[in-house]
Amino acid sequence: MAAASIHLNAGTKRFLDEPHRLLINNEWVATDGGDTIAVNDPATGLQIAEHEGASEADVDRAVAAARAALTGPWSKLSPADRGKLLWKLADLMDQNAATICELEVLNNGMPMIAAQLGSTVFAPDYLRYCAGWATKILGDTIPTSRPPMDPDGESLVYTLKEPIGVVGAIIPWNHPGSMMALKLGPALATGCTLVLKVAELTPLTNFFMARLAVEAGFPPGVINVISGYGERAGAALANHPDVDKIAFTGSTAVGKEIIKASAGNLKRVSLELGGKSPVVVMPDANIDKAVAGAIPAAFFLSGQNCMAGTRLFLHARIHDEFIDKLSAGVGMLKVGSGFDPEAFIGPLISERQRQRVLGYIDAARAEGADIIVGGQATGERGYFVQPTVAANTTRDMQVVREEVFGPVLSVRRFETEDLDAIAAEANDTIYGLSGSVWTQNISTAHRLVKRIDAGQVSINCHAAIDPATPFGGNKQSGWGREFGKEGLQPYLKTKAVSIML
Ligand code: NAP
Ligand code: MG
Repeated sequence: MAAASIHLNAGTKRFLDEPHRLLINNEWVATDGGDTIAVNDPATGLQIAEHEGASEADVDRAVAAARAALTGPWSKLSPADRGKLLWKLADLMDQNAATICELEVLNNGMPMIAAQLGSTVFAPDYLRYCAGWATKILGDTIPTSRPPMDPDGESLVYTLKEPIGVVGAIIPWNHPGSMMALKLGPALATGCTLVLKVAELTPLTNFFMARLAVEAGFPPGVINVISGYGERAGAALANHPDVDKIAFTGSTAVGKEIIKASAGNLKRVSLELGGKSPVVVMPDANIDKAVAGAIPAAFFLSGQNCMAGTRLFLHARIHDEFIDKLSAGVGMLKVGSGFDPEAFIGPLISERQRQRVLGYIDAARAEGADIIVGGQATGERGYFVQPTVAANTTRDMQVVREEVFGPVLSVRRFETEDLDAIAAEANDTIYGLSGSVWTQNISTAHRLVKRIDAGQVSINCHAAIDPATPFGGNKQSGWGREFGKEGLQPYLKTKAVSIML
Protein backbone atom coordinates (compact mmCIF):
# COMPACT_ATOMS: atom_id res chain seq x y z
CA MET A 1 0.00 0.00 0.00
CA ALA A 2 1.25 3.42 -0.96
CA ALA A 3 -0.09 4.81 2.26
CA ALA A 4 2.06 2.54 4.43
CA SER A 5 4.94 4.98 4.83
CA ILE A 6 2.66 7.91 5.69
CA HIS A 7 1.19 8.36 9.13
CA LEU A 8 -2.57 8.44 8.55
CA ASN A 9 -5.19 8.83 11.26
CA ALA A 10 -7.21 5.77 12.25
CA GLY A 11 -10.39 7.02 10.55
CA THR A 12 -8.60 7.40 7.21
CA LYS A 13 -7.04 3.94 7.43
CA ARG A 14 -10.35 2.31 8.30
CA PHE A 15 -12.07 4.07 5.42
CA LEU A 16 -9.39 3.06 2.91
CA ASP A 17 -9.80 -0.60 3.83
CA GLU A 18 -13.55 -0.65 3.40
CA PRO A 19 -15.28 -1.37 0.07
CA HIS A 20 -16.12 1.70 -2.03
CA ARG A 21 -19.48 1.29 -3.70
CA LEU A 22 -22.30 3.49 -4.94
CA LEU A 23 -24.55 5.58 -2.69
CA ILE A 24 -28.13 5.17 -3.97
CA ASN A 25 -31.14 5.86 -1.74
CA ASN A 26 -28.85 6.19 1.30
CA GLU A 27 -27.53 2.66 0.81
CA TRP A 28 -24.08 1.61 -0.33
CA VAL A 29 -24.87 -0.79 -3.13
CA ALA A 30 -22.78 -2.94 -5.45
CA THR A 31 -22.71 -2.02 -9.11
CA ASP A 32 -24.94 -3.86 -11.54
CA GLY A 33 -22.53 -4.64 -14.36
CA GLY A 34 -20.24 -1.63 -13.87
CA ASP A 35 -16.45 -1.39 -13.74
CA THR A 36 -13.86 -2.14 -11.08
CA ILE A 37 -11.54 0.87 -11.05
CA ALA A 38 -8.19 1.26 -9.28
CA VAL A 39 -7.44 4.40 -7.25
CA ASN A 40 -3.81 5.54 -7.19
CA ASP A 41 -1.70 7.85 -5.07
CA PRO A 42 -0.23 10.22 -7.70
CA ALA A 43 2.78 10.93 -5.48
CA THR A 44 3.89 7.28 -5.71
CA GLY A 45 1.93 5.84 -8.61
CA LEU A 46 0.87 3.01 -6.31
CA GLN A 47 -2.65 1.73 -5.89
CA ILE A 48 -4.35 2.75 -2.63
CA ALA A 49 -7.86 1.40 -3.15
CA GLU A 50 -10.30 0.21 -5.74
CA HIS A 51 -13.90 1.15 -6.24
CA GLU A 52 -16.96 0.36 -8.30
CA GLY A 53 -17.75 2.51 -11.31
CA ALA A 54 -21.39 2.88 -12.27
CA SER A 55 -23.02 1.17 -15.25
CA GLU A 56 -25.95 2.57 -17.24
CA ALA A 57 -28.26 0.45 -15.06
CA ASP A 58 -26.76 2.01 -11.91
CA VAL A 59 -27.36 5.49 -13.31
CA ASP A 60 -30.99 4.51 -13.96
CA ARG A 61 -31.35 3.35 -10.34
CA ALA A 62 -29.75 6.51 -8.96
CA VAL A 63 -31.92 8.78 -11.11
CA ALA A 64 -35.05 6.86 -10.10
CA ALA A 65 -34.10 7.32 -6.43
CA ALA A 66 -33.56 11.05 -6.93
CA ARG A 67 -36.88 11.34 -8.81
CA ALA A 68 -38.82 9.57 -6.06
CA ALA A 69 -37.13 11.67 -3.35
CA LEU A 70 -38.17 14.87 -5.07
CA THR A 71 -41.80 14.36 -4.01
CA GLY A 72 -41.06 12.44 -0.78
CA PRO A 73 -40.33 13.71 2.75
CA TRP A 74 -37.68 16.07 1.36
CA SER A 75 -40.35 18.11 -0.42
CA LYS A 76 -42.24 18.55 2.87
CA LEU A 77 -39.24 19.90 4.78
CA SER A 78 -39.35 23.59 5.56
CA PRO A 79 -36.65 25.78 4.02
CA ALA A 80 -35.22 26.26 7.52
CA ASP A 81 -34.94 22.51 7.98
CA ARG A 82 -33.21 22.12 4.61
CA GLY A 83 -30.77 24.77 5.80
CA LYS A 84 -30.20 22.93 9.07
CA LEU A 85 -29.32 19.72 7.23
CA LEU A 86 -26.74 21.58 5.13
CA TRP A 87 -25.37 23.16 8.30
CA LYS A 88 -25.17 19.71 9.94
CA LEU A 89 -23.20 18.36 6.98
CA ALA A 90 -20.79 21.29 7.29
CA ASP A 91 -20.36 20.56 11.04
CA LEU A 92 -19.63 16.90 10.29
CA MET A 93 -17.02 18.01 7.76
CA ASP A 94 -15.38 20.10 10.48
CA GLN A 95 -15.38 17.13 12.85
CA ASN A 96 -13.82 14.91 10.19
CA ALA A 97 -11.46 17.51 8.74
CA ALA A 98 -8.33 15.43 9.36
CA THR A 99 -9.62 12.47 7.38
CA ILE A 100 -11.02 14.63 4.58
CA CYS A 101 -7.64 16.35 4.18
CA GLU A 102 -5.67 13.12 4.27
CA LEU A 103 -7.90 11.58 1.62
CA GLU A 104 -7.55 14.67 -0.58
CA VAL A 105 -3.76 14.62 -0.33
CA LEU A 106 -3.49 10.87 -0.78
CA ASN A 107 -5.86 10.63 -3.74
CA ASN A 108 -5.29 13.94 -5.55
CA GLY A 109 -1.70 14.72 -4.50
CA MET A 110 -2.38 18.35 -3.57
CA PRO A 111 -0.38 19.94 -0.72
CA MET A 112 -1.99 19.57 2.71
CA ILE A 113 -2.50 23.33 2.95
CA ALA A 114 -4.52 23.30 -0.29
CA ALA A 115 -6.62 20.43 1.02
CA GLN A 116 -7.25 22.32 4.25
CA LEU A 117 -8.14 25.59 2.55
CA GLY A 118 -10.35 23.98 -0.07
CA SER A 119 -12.03 21.05 1.54
CA THR A 120 -12.18 21.89 5.21
CA VAL A 121 -12.40 25.69 5.20
CA PHE A 122 -13.98 26.72 1.92
CA ALA A 123 -16.27 23.71 1.36
CA PRO A 124 -18.05 23.78 4.74
CA ASP A 125 -18.20 27.58 4.59
CA TYR A 126 -19.89 27.32 1.23
CA LEU A 127 -22.42 24.78 2.53
CA ARG A 128 -23.26 27.15 5.39
CA TYR A 129 -23.54 30.06 2.97
CA CYS A 130 -26.04 28.04 0.92
CA ALA A 131 -27.84 26.95 4.09
CA GLY A 132 -28.56 30.63 4.71
CA TRP A 133 -30.09 31.00 1.25
CA ALA A 134 -32.61 28.18 1.79
CA THR A 135 -34.89 30.58 3.67
CA LYS A 136 -34.32 33.49 1.27
CA ILE A 137 -35.50 32.14 -2.08
CA LEU A 138 -38.09 34.72 -2.98
CA GLY A 139 -40.53 35.24 -5.82
CA ASP A 140 -42.00 38.59 -6.86
CA THR A 141 -45.39 40.23 -6.77
CA ILE A 142 -46.10 41.71 -10.18
CA PRO A 143 -48.28 44.76 -10.79
CA THR A 144 -49.98 43.82 -14.08
CA SER A 145 -51.58 46.15 -16.60
CA ARG A 146 -53.94 43.63 -18.19
CA PRO A 147 -55.85 41.50 -15.68
CA PRO A 148 -56.87 38.09 -17.07
CA MET A 149 -60.45 37.69 -18.40
CA ASP A 150 -61.77 41.10 -17.47
CA PRO A 151 -59.80 44.23 -18.44
CA ASP A 152 -61.60 46.21 -15.74
CA GLY A 153 -61.18 43.58 -13.05
CA GLU A 154 -58.55 43.33 -10.36
CA SER A 155 -55.89 40.68 -10.25
CA LEU A 156 -52.93 39.53 -8.26
CA VAL A 157 -49.89 38.02 -9.95
CA TYR A 158 -46.96 36.52 -8.12
CA THR A 159 -44.11 34.15 -8.91
CA LEU A 160 -42.99 30.99 -7.17
CA LYS A 161 -39.38 29.83 -7.32
CA GLU A 162 -39.44 26.05 -7.49
CA PRO A 163 -36.61 23.51 -7.49
CA ILE A 164 -35.69 22.58 -11.04
CA GLY A 165 -35.94 18.89 -10.15
CA VAL A 166 -33.44 16.08 -10.49
CA VAL A 167 -29.92 17.41 -10.96
CA GLY A 168 -27.13 15.39 -12.56
CA ALA A 169 -23.87 16.86 -11.27
CA ILE A 170 -20.52 15.90 -12.81
CA ILE A 171 -17.23 16.98 -11.24
CA PRO A 172 -13.50 16.73 -12.08
CA TRP A 173 -10.58 15.43 -10.04
CA ASN A 174 -8.67 18.64 -9.37
CA HIS A 175 -10.32 19.60 -6.06
CA PRO A 176 -12.77 16.81 -5.25
CA GLY A 177 -13.99 17.93 -1.83
CA SER A 178 -14.72 21.53 -2.72
CA MET A 179 -16.16 20.57 -6.12
CA MET A 180 -18.66 18.33 -4.33
CA ALA A 181 -19.67 21.14 -1.97
CA LEU A 182 -20.15 23.46 -4.95
CA LYS A 183 -22.74 21.09 -6.38
CA LEU A 184 -24.44 20.02 -3.13
CA GLY A 185 -24.89 23.52 -1.70
CA PRO A 186 -27.15 25.18 -4.26
CA ALA A 187 -28.94 21.96 -5.28
CA LEU A 188 -29.97 21.21 -1.70
CA ALA A 189 -30.67 24.80 -0.65
CA THR A 190 -33.18 25.09 -3.50
CA GLY A 191 -34.86 21.75 -2.72
CA CYS A 192 -33.56 19.74 -5.70
CA THR A 193 -32.33 16.16 -5.46
CA LEU A 194 -29.17 15.03 -7.19
CA VAL A 195 -27.06 12.28 -8.65
CA LEU A 196 -23.42 13.29 -8.34
CA LYS A 197 -20.94 11.61 -10.70
CA VAL A 198 -17.47 12.07 -9.24
CA ALA A 199 -14.18 11.71 -11.15
CA GLU A 200 -13.08 8.09 -11.24
CA LEU A 201 -9.48 9.14 -10.49
CA THR A 202 -10.42 10.78 -7.17
CA PRO A 203 -13.57 9.27 -5.64
CA LEU A 204 -12.33 8.79 -2.06
CA THR A 205 -13.04 12.17 -0.46
CA ASN A 206 -16.37 12.27 -2.25
CA PHE A 207 -17.45 8.87 -0.93
CA PHE A 208 -16.33 9.88 2.56
CA MET A 209 -18.35 13.11 2.35
CA ALA A 210 -21.31 11.09 1.06
CA ARG A 211 -21.22 9.06 4.27
CA LEU A 212 -21.31 12.29 6.25
CA ALA A 213 -24.35 13.37 4.24
CA VAL A 214 -26.17 10.18 5.23
CA GLU A 215 -25.13 10.75 8.84
CA ALA A 216 -26.39 14.35 8.67
CA GLY A 217 -29.87 13.00 7.99
CA PHE A 218 -30.72 13.83 4.38
CA PRO A 219 -33.67 11.61 3.41
CA PRO A 220 -32.98 8.63 1.11
CA GLY A 221 -32.56 9.50 -2.56
CA VAL A 222 -31.86 13.22 -2.04
CA ILE A 223 -28.09 12.79 -2.47
CA ASN A 224 -26.89 9.89 -4.64
CA VAL A 225 -23.15 9.61 -5.28
CA ILE A 226 -21.66 7.44 -7.99
CA SER A 227 -18.28 7.17 -9.63
CA GLY A 228 -17.49 5.69 -13.00
CA TYR A 229 -15.93 6.48 -16.33
CA GLY A 230 -17.03 9.72 -17.91
CA GLU A 231 -17.78 8.10 -21.24
CA ARG A 232 -20.02 5.57 -19.51
CA ALA A 233 -21.51 6.80 -16.22
CA GLY A 234 -21.14 10.51 -17.03
CA ALA A 235 -22.60 10.14 -20.51
CA ALA A 236 -25.51 8.03 -19.20
CA LEU A 237 -26.34 10.80 -16.72
CA ALA A 238 -26.05 13.57 -19.32
CA ASN A 239 -28.27 11.58 -21.72
CA HIS A 240 -30.81 10.48 -19.12
CA PRO A 241 -34.39 11.41 -20.06
CA ASP A 242 -35.43 11.80 -16.40
CA VAL A 243 -32.69 14.24 -15.37
CA ASP A 244 -33.87 17.87 -15.44
CA LYS A 245 -30.55 19.66 -15.26
CA ILE A 246 -26.85 18.96 -15.62
CA ALA A 247 -24.37 20.94 -13.53
CA PHE A 248 -20.99 20.18 -15.08
CA THR A 249 -17.47 21.17 -14.13
CA GLY A 250 -14.69 19.94 -16.40
CA SER A 251 -13.06 20.51 -19.73
CA THR A 252 -14.48 22.60 -22.55
CA ALA A 253 -14.37 19.60 -24.91
CA VAL A 254 -16.52 17.46 -22.60
CA GLY A 255 -18.77 20.47 -21.88
CA LYS A 256 -19.68 20.49 -25.58
CA GLU A 257 -20.54 16.78 -25.37
CA ILE A 258 -22.78 17.53 -22.38
CA ILE A 259 -24.70 20.11 -24.39
CA LYS A 260 -25.29 17.61 -27.19
CA ALA A 261 -26.31 14.87 -24.77
CA SER A 262 -28.75 17.16 -22.99
CA ALA A 263 -30.67 17.95 -26.18
CA GLY A 264 -32.77 14.76 -25.91
CA ASN A 265 -35.04 16.13 -23.19
CA LEU A 266 -33.80 19.75 -23.33
CA LYS A 267 -32.12 19.60 -19.94
CA ARG A 268 -31.01 22.85 -18.38
CA VAL A 269 -27.22 22.96 -18.42
CA SER A 270 -24.71 24.95 -16.43
CA LEU A 271 -21.03 24.62 -17.33
CA GLU A 272 -17.84 25.53 -15.46
CA LEU A 273 -15.11 24.84 -18.00
CA GLY A 274 -11.48 25.47 -18.79
CA GLY A 275 -9.42 28.65 -18.73
CA LYS A 276 -6.23 30.31 -19.90
CA SER A 277 -6.30 33.35 -17.72
CA PRO A 278 -4.19 36.47 -18.27
CA VAL A 279 -2.10 38.18 -15.59
CA VAL A 280 -1.27 41.68 -16.82
CA VAL A 281 1.53 43.59 -15.08
CA MET A 282 1.67 47.32 -15.87
CA PRO A 283 4.91 49.29 -15.60
CA ASP A 284 3.85 51.05 -12.39
CA ALA A 285 3.01 47.82 -10.52
CA ASN A 286 4.60 46.94 -7.21
CA ILE A 287 6.96 44.35 -8.68
CA ASP A 288 7.65 42.36 -5.55
CA LYS A 289 3.97 41.99 -4.75
CA ALA A 290 3.14 41.15 -8.35
CA VAL A 291 5.82 38.44 -8.48
CA ALA A 292 4.57 37.05 -5.17
CA GLY A 293 1.04 36.97 -6.63
CA ALA A 294 1.88 35.66 -10.09
CA ILE A 295 3.60 32.54 -8.72
CA PRO A 296 0.63 31.01 -6.88
CA ALA A 297 -1.67 32.31 -9.63
CA ALA A 298 0.10 30.00 -12.07
CA PHE A 299 1.32 27.18 -9.85
CA PHE A 300 -1.37 26.60 -7.19
CA LEU A 301 -2.42 22.92 -7.41
CA SER A 302 0.54 22.43 -9.77
CA GLY A 303 -1.41 24.47 -12.30
CA GLN A 304 -4.27 21.94 -12.27
CA ASN A 305 -6.63 24.75 -11.57
CA CYS A 306 -9.22 26.23 -13.92
CA MET A 307 -8.47 29.80 -12.80
CA ALA A 308 -4.71 29.45 -13.22
CA GLY A 309 -3.07 32.65 -14.48
CA THR A 310 -0.99 30.92 -17.14
CA ARG A 311 -0.48 33.81 -19.57
CA LEU A 312 1.71 36.42 -17.91
CA PHE A 313 1.95 39.75 -19.77
CA LEU A 314 4.85 41.94 -18.67
CA HIS A 315 5.37 45.51 -19.79
CA ALA A 316 8.76 45.97 -21.43
CA ARG A 317 9.90 48.52 -18.79
CA ILE A 318 9.64 46.00 -15.97
CA HIS A 319 10.06 42.79 -17.97
CA ASP A 320 13.67 41.93 -17.14
CA GLU A 321 13.50 42.77 -13.44
CA PHE A 322 10.25 40.80 -13.15
CA ILE A 323 11.70 37.78 -14.98
CA ASP A 324 14.74 37.73 -12.67
CA LYS A 325 12.59 37.80 -9.54
CA LEU A 326 10.06 35.35 -10.97
CA SER A 327 12.77 32.87 -11.95
CA ALA A 328 14.29 33.04 -8.49
CA GLY A 329 10.91 32.56 -6.83
CA VAL A 330 9.78 29.68 -9.04
CA GLY A 331 13.18 28.03 -8.75
CA MET A 332 12.70 27.90 -4.98
CA LEU A 333 9.32 26.13 -5.09
CA LYS A 334 9.73 22.70 -3.58
CA VAL A 335 8.33 19.79 -5.56
CA GLY A 336 7.13 16.85 -3.49
CA SER A 337 4.38 14.86 -1.84
CA GLY A 338 1.45 16.82 -0.53
CA PHE A 339 2.26 15.37 2.90
CA ASP A 340 5.60 17.24 2.87
CA PRO A 341 4.75 20.56 4.55
CA GLU A 342 7.41 22.39 2.53
CA ALA A 343 6.27 21.17 -0.88
CA PHE A 344 4.26 23.66 -2.93
CA ILE A 345 4.19 21.65 -6.17
CA GLY A 346 2.51 18.26 -5.77
CA PRO A 347 2.30 15.57 -8.43
CA LEU A 348 0.07 15.75 -11.48
CA ILE A 349 -2.97 13.54 -11.32
CA SER A 350 -1.76 10.73 -13.61
CA GLU A 351 1.05 9.60 -15.86
CA ARG A 352 -1.17 10.47 -18.82
CA GLN A 353 -1.51 14.04 -17.56
CA ARG A 354 2.25 14.22 -16.97
CA GLN A 355 2.99 13.14 -20.53
CA ARG A 356 0.49 15.68 -21.83
CA VAL A 357 2.16 18.49 -19.86
CA LEU A 358 5.66 17.45 -20.97
CA GLY A 359 4.35 17.47 -24.53
CA TYR A 360 3.37 21.14 -24.14
CA ILE A 361 6.84 21.97 -22.80
CA ASP A 362 8.49 20.19 -25.76
CA ALA A 363 6.20 22.03 -28.17
CA ALA A 364 7.10 25.36 -26.53
CA ARG A 365 10.81 24.63 -27.00
CA ALA A 366 10.27 23.54 -30.59
CA GLU A 367 8.30 26.70 -31.35
CA GLY A 368 11.11 28.89 -30.02
CA ALA A 369 10.14 29.77 -26.45
CA ASP A 370 12.93 29.96 -23.85
CA ILE A 371 12.40 27.54 -20.98
CA ILE A 372 14.06 29.63 -18.27
CA VAL A 373 12.97 27.57 -15.25
CA GLY A 374 12.18 23.85 -14.94
CA GLY A 375 11.05 22.01 -18.05
CA GLN A 376 11.57 18.41 -16.92
CA ALA A 377 9.83 15.53 -15.23
CA THR A 378 11.22 14.94 -11.76
CA GLY A 379 11.05 12.53 -8.80
CA GLU A 380 11.96 8.88 -8.53
CA ARG A 381 8.32 7.84 -8.59
CA GLY A 382 4.96 9.52 -8.91
CA TYR A 383 3.85 11.98 -11.58
CA PHE A 384 5.92 15.09 -10.86
CA VAL A 385 6.89 17.87 -13.27
CA GLN A 386 9.10 20.81 -12.34
CA PRO A 387 7.42 24.21 -12.21
CA THR A 388 8.25 25.63 -15.61
CA VAL A 389 8.46 29.14 -17.05
CA ALA A 390 8.43 29.62 -20.82
CA ALA A 391 9.66 33.14 -21.66
CA ASN A 392 9.64 35.06 -24.95
CA THR A 393 6.49 33.33 -26.12
CA THR A 394 4.33 34.55 -29.00
CA ARG A 395 0.58 34.48 -29.54
CA ASP A 396 0.49 31.48 -31.86
CA MET A 397 2.45 29.05 -29.69
CA GLN A 398 0.50 26.05 -28.49
CA VAL A 399 1.60 26.66 -24.88
CA VAL A 400 0.03 30.13 -25.08
CA ARG A 401 -3.21 29.08 -26.76
CA GLU A 402 -4.19 25.83 -25.03
CA GLU A 403 -5.02 24.98 -21.44
CA VAL A 404 -2.03 22.95 -20.18
CA PHE A 405 -3.46 22.09 -16.74
CA GLY A 406 0.02 21.65 -15.32
CA PRO A 407 2.80 23.79 -13.81
CA VAL A 408 3.65 25.75 -16.95
CA LEU A 409 3.59 29.54 -17.14
CA SER A 410 4.07 31.35 -20.45
CA VAL A 411 5.38 34.90 -20.44
CA ARG A 412 4.89 37.59 -23.08
CA ARG A 413 6.40 41.05 -23.29
CA PHE A 414 4.32 44.07 -24.36
CA GLU A 415 5.51 47.57 -25.29
CA THR A 416 2.32 49.62 -25.44
CA GLU A 417 0.41 51.49 -22.73
CA ASP A 418 -2.73 51.63 -24.86
CA LEU A 419 -5.31 49.81 -22.77
CA ASP A 420 -7.40 48.67 -25.73
CA ALA A 421 -4.33 47.07 -27.30
CA ILE A 422 -3.33 45.43 -24.01
CA ALA A 423 -6.85 44.08 -23.48
CA ALA A 424 -6.95 42.75 -27.05
CA GLU A 425 -3.88 40.63 -26.25
CA ALA A 426 -5.31 39.51 -22.90
CA ASN A 427 -8.59 38.55 -24.61
CA ASP A 428 -6.88 36.69 -27.45
CA THR A 429 -8.11 33.29 -26.25
CA ILE A 430 -11.21 31.12 -26.58
CA TYR A 431 -11.51 31.21 -22.79
CA GLY A 432 -12.84 33.87 -20.42
CA LEU A 433 -12.77 32.53 -16.88
CA SER A 434 -10.47 34.70 -14.82
CA GLY A 435 -7.75 37.33 -15.03
CA SER A 436 -5.83 39.88 -13.05
CA VAL A 437 -4.39 43.35 -13.46
CA TRP A 438 -1.39 44.62 -11.48
CA THR A 439 -0.96 48.37 -11.25
CA GLN A 440 -0.88 51.14 -8.63
CA ASN A 441 -2.94 53.47 -10.77
CA ILE A 442 -6.59 53.18 -9.81
CA SER A 443 -7.84 54.53 -13.15
CA THR A 444 -5.69 52.17 -15.18
CA ALA A 445 -6.90 49.30 -13.01
CA HIS A 446 -10.61 49.94 -13.50
CA ARG A 447 -10.32 50.85 -17.17
CA LEU A 448 -8.43 47.63 -17.89
CA VAL A 449 -10.81 45.50 -15.82
CA LYS A 450 -13.71 46.79 -17.94
CA ARG A 451 -11.92 45.71 -21.11
CA ILE A 452 -11.04 42.16 -20.03
CA ASP A 453 -13.60 39.58 -21.12
CA ALA A 454 -13.70 37.18 -18.17
CA GLY A 455 -16.09 36.11 -15.42
CA GLN A 456 -13.90 37.49 -12.67
CA VAL A 457 -11.05 39.93 -12.92
CA SER A 458 -8.95 40.87 -9.90
CA ILE A 459 -6.82 43.91 -9.19
CA ASN A 460 -3.49 43.29 -7.43
CA CYS A 461 -4.51 39.72 -6.59
CA HIS A 462 -5.56 36.74 -8.70
CA ALA A 463 -8.67 34.56 -8.56
CA ALA A 464 -9.99 35.61 -5.18
CA ILE A 465 -12.72 33.09 -4.32
CA ASP A 466 -15.48 33.65 -1.80
CA PRO A 467 -18.85 31.91 -1.32
CA ALA A 468 -20.62 35.24 -1.87
CA THR A 469 -18.76 36.26 -5.03
CA PRO A 470 -20.15 35.01 -8.37
CA PHE A 471 -17.78 32.73 -10.25
CA GLY A 472 -17.98 31.40 -13.79
CA GLY A 473 -16.79 31.78 -17.32
CA ASN A 474 -17.41 33.86 -20.44
CA LYS A 475 -16.85 32.56 -23.97
CA GLN A 476 -15.82 28.88 -23.96
CA SER A 477 -15.19 28.88 -20.21
CA GLY A 478 -18.81 28.13 -19.46
CA TRP A 479 -22.47 28.95 -18.99
CA GLY A 480 -23.85 30.43 -15.80
CA ARG A 481 -22.34 31.33 -12.46
CA GLU A 482 -21.68 29.48 -9.24
CA PHE A 483 -21.43 31.12 -5.79
CA GLY A 484 -23.32 34.15 -4.56
CA LYS A 485 -27.04 34.55 -5.08
CA GLU A 486 -26.59 34.04 -8.82
CA GLY A 487 -25.34 30.54 -8.08
CA LEU A 488 -28.82 29.43 -7.01
CA GLN A 489 -30.61 30.55 -10.18
CA PRO A 490 -29.60 27.58 -12.37
CA TYR A 491 -31.32 25.29 -9.83
CA LEU A 492 -34.64 27.16 -9.83
CA LYS A 493 -37.56 27.54 -12.19
CA THR A 494 -40.08 30.33 -12.07
CA LYS A 495 -43.84 29.78 -12.01
CA ALA A 496 -46.06 32.80 -12.60
CA VAL A 497 -49.41 32.61 -10.80
CA SER A 498 -52.28 34.86 -11.94
CA ILE A 499 -55.38 35.31 -9.80
CA MET A 500 -58.57 37.04 -10.85
CA LEU A 501 -59.88 38.69 -7.70
P1 NAP B 1 -13.04 16.25 -18.00
O1 NAP B 1 -12.25 15.23 -18.68
O2 NAP B 1 -13.93 17.15 -18.80
O3 NAP B 1 -13.88 15.49 -16.90
C1 NAP B 1 -14.76 16.14 -16.00
C2 NAP B 1 -15.83 15.16 -15.56
O4 NAP B 1 -16.61 14.78 -16.70
C3 NAP B 1 -15.27 13.86 -15.00
O5 NAP B 1 -16.14 13.40 -13.97
C4 NAP B 1 -15.32 12.96 -16.20
O6 NAP B 1 -15.32 11.59 -15.88
C5 NAP B 1 -16.61 13.38 -16.84
N1 NAP B 1 -16.75 13.05 -18.25
C6 NAP B 1 -15.78 12.77 -19.16
N2 NAP B 1 -16.33 12.50 -20.38
C7 NAP B 1 -17.67 12.61 -20.23
C8 NAP B 1 -18.78 12.48 -21.12
N3 NAP B 1 -18.63 12.17 -22.41
N4 NAP B 1 -20.04 12.68 -20.63
C9 NAP B 1 -20.22 13.01 -19.34
N5 NAP B 1 -19.22 13.15 -18.45
C10 NAP B 1 -17.95 12.96 -18.89
O7 NAP B 1 -12.13 17.23 -17.17
P2 NAP B 1 -10.94 16.85 -16.21
O8 NAP B 1 -9.76 16.52 -17.03
O9 NAP B 1 -11.40 15.87 -15.21
O10 NAP B 1 -10.76 18.23 -15.44
C11 NAP B 1 -9.98 19.26 -15.94
C12 NAP B 1 -10.80 20.31 -16.64
O11 NAP B 1 -11.80 20.82 -15.76
C13 NAP B 1 -9.99 21.49 -17.06
O12 NAP B 1 -10.35 21.91 -18.35
C14 NAP B 1 -10.38 22.56 -16.04
O13 NAP B 1 -10.17 23.86 -16.47
C15 NAP B 1 -11.80 22.24 -15.80
N6 NAP B 1 -12.24 22.81 -14.52
C16 NAP B 1 -13.07 23.90 -14.54
C17 NAP B 1 -13.47 24.48 -13.34
C18 NAP B 1 -14.39 25.69 -13.33
O14 NAP B 1 -14.97 25.96 -12.29
N7 NAP B 1 -14.53 26.43 -14.41
C19 NAP B 1 -13.04 23.94 -12.13
C20 NAP B 1 -12.19 22.84 -12.17
C21 NAP B 1 -11.81 22.28 -13.36
P3 NAP B 1 -13.93 10.83 -15.57
O15 NAP B 1 -14.06 10.51 -14.14
O16 NAP B 1 -13.92 9.63 -16.45
O17 NAP B 1 -12.81 11.73 -15.89
MG1 MG C 1 -11.42 12.63 -17.63
